[in-house]
Amino acid sequence: MAEEGKRLQIDADVEAVLEKRGIRREDIQGVIDFAEETGNVYVQPETGHCLAYSTPATTTYWVEFGREGGTYRIYRAYSHRMEILHGFNMPARKQQTMDWTCTKCDRKLELATVKLKYMEETFGVDIPACPSCQRIFVSEEDATQRMALAEKMLEDK
Ligand SMILES: [Zn+2]
Repeated sequence: MAEEGKRLQIDADVEAVLEKRGIRREDIQGVIDFAEETGNVYVQPETGHCLAYSTPATTTYWVEFGREGGTYRIYRAYSHRMEILHGFNMPARKQQTMDWTCTKCDRKLELATVKLKYMEETFGVDIPACPSCQRIFVSEEDATQRMALAEKMLEDK
């Protein structure tokens, strides 16, 4: 357990945000283990930063990290409870290419209209996705602002 924890490098300011968001080290480790196992990683070529996600239960965790020797530097992590419904991606009305690449397909992510579900409500949202494997990309802003707001509105209904 302590051995595993050592592989993550998290600065104090990042750690403080994670604590506020209720994201634990084991949640982050879980995302990285899943990413390494499956190769499901997005990469930003200029910075070399990687972004990966996993959904162990009802919450989806996203982690932006960099590989440094045998360790992982954690730049940010965030989560959402809104469920991603895979396989329903449609082309977005606005065409936009992102500076993130799907490493599996070697394709740049493009804006797509994807289906999300929360508390029995489904809706379409324009967010980046891989045009080849259709995996979607939730940015920190989308998770902590747009999705969090929608989750709250549905809970308050
Ligand atoms: Zn892909």
